[in-house]
Amino acid sequence: MTTTPDLAPNFSLHGAFPFSSADDAGEIRARTLAVTPFLYIGQALTREEFARYVASYDFGTIPPAFMVFHHTGIPSTKAAPWPSGAVWDDHEDGLNDDQIKAKRLAQLAKIRDFYASDKGWDRGPHLFVDDKWIYCFTPMDSIGIHAAEGNSTHVGGTLKYSIGIEVIGYFEKVQWSAAVARNVGFVAAALQRRLKTFELRRGAKWADLNSHRDFNKPACPGAAITEDFYVRVCVDAAAQLDATGQMKALSVHPQLLGAWQASGGGWLKDRLTPGLPTVPAFVGKDGMLYQGYERSVARLKADGVVDWLLLNEIAAMSI
Ligand SMILES: [Zn+2]
Repeated sequence: MTTTPDLAPNFSLHGAFPFSSADDAGEIRARTLAVTPFLYIGQALTREEFARYVASYDFGTIPPAFMVFHHTGIPSTKAAPWPSGAVWDDHEDGLNDDQIKAKRLAQLAKIRDFYASDKGWDRGPHLFVDDKWIYCFTPMDSIGIHAAEGNSTHVGGTLKYSIGIEVIGYFEKVQWSAAVARNVGFVAAALQRRLKTFELRRGAKWADLNSHRDFNKPACPGAAITEDFYVRVCVDAAAQLDATGQMKALSVHPQLLGAWQASGGGWLKDRLTPGLPTVPAFVGKDGMLYQGYERSVARLKADGVVDWLLLNEIAAMSI
C-alpha cells in the first residue's frame, strides 16, 4: 500500500476563513457527510479553459442569477497578506507551473476538508480565484454555502441563487493585482455572457453583482474592493471578450515588436519572457511607450531600447 504524498505540507488552515462563519450556511442544513458527499470538483482552469467549461456547462432548469464576491483572508497571499496563517503562494520557489498547480489543488482539497470538519458543511463557494487559475470548487448547478441569505432566496416564489466566488488573499488594504483582477473579471464576464440572468453592474440584494458585505459580513470582500472597483474590473473584462467568449488576442505594439526584432530575440535573454500582452500599449505621463504583459511591463526608451519593469523596479534587461 502506498501513501499519497502531501503536496502542501506547510498549508495549515488553523484560524482560516476569518470572514466565514456558521451563519453563512443560511437555510442550507448541513447534512451528514456520510450520507451526502461533499459537493466538490477540484479543478484548476486557465481563462481559456474556463470559457470552454462555462460554454458547455449544464446549469439545469434554474441557473444562478447573481454573483457574490468574497475574500479568503486566511489563506492570504504574498501580495495580499494577513499577519498570520496559511499563505496560498508560499513555498513555491523552484517549482514549475505544473508543480504549483498540483500544490495549490492539494491546498484547495484541504479547504474542502476544513469546511467539512470545522463547519460541518457539505458544500462551499463555487469558485476560488488567484493570480494563476480559476478553481472549480462546488458545482455551479447547486446552491452553495458562502453568504448566508446571499446563497439563495425566493423572489415571487422563484428560487434565485448566487455564484459565490472567493478571491484568495486579504484585501482590506490592497486591491486585487492585475493578474487576479483579470481572472476575477473574466469569471464574471464569462458567466454573464453564458447565463444572461444578471448584468455586470452593482446590484440590489440578490441581483447582478453583490458582495458578502451586502448580506452578513461587513469585512468581506475587503475594504479595498469597493463596489466601483469590482464592477469596473468585470466591465473591463467583458470588453476584452471576443465573439467566442475568449479573451481577445492583443497585439504587441509595432515599435516594441520592432525593438524585439532588432534584438534578434533578446527578450529571451536570461530566460526572462514577458508572456503575452495583457493590455494595449499606451503612452505614459513621461511620454514613453508602455505595454503590460503577463509577467512584466515593457517601456520603450527614447534610444529605442526596451526596459523591463518588474514589480515596480526596472530590471536591468536592456536589449
Ligand atoms: Zn465572504
